[in-house]
Amino acid sequence: MSTITKTHLQALKTHLHQRAQQLLQELDTARSEQAQSVHDTEDLPPEPDANQSRDTSDREVRHAEQMRDQQELKDVRAALQRMEDGSYGECMDCGKGIALARLQAFPSAKRCIACQTLHEDKKRRA
Ligand SMILES: [Zn+2]
Repeated sequence: MSTITKTHLQALKTHLHQRAQQLLQELDTARSEQAQSVHDTEDLPPEPDANQSRDTSDREVRHAEQMRDQQELKDVRAALQRMEDGSYGECMDCGKGIALARLQAFPSAKRCIACQTLHEDKKRRA
């Protein structure tokens, strides 16, 4: 397995910072769109039920996307924090080093591939 060098860490850190910025922007856009749609509804007369339920599911989809973005932002920030305290690149479950290729593809990874697979398996069965 290849070792993670300072150069790798620097590149991953830049990547994480960029991702955090992007997520913040997405969340910001989603929030202002939501504020806008609340305003629109206030001006309109009550809608028929059919429209309302479509709006609700749109809102739910947007909400789910926001939750995902927020979760990823949390992961990205946690990864940056782990870089600060030197534990970056260690699997949170087994403590072994996460493969460099995995970190490069997914810099906010908290688990090695083996533990991630197990974790997702457990989630699916829960
Ligand atoms: Zn592991």
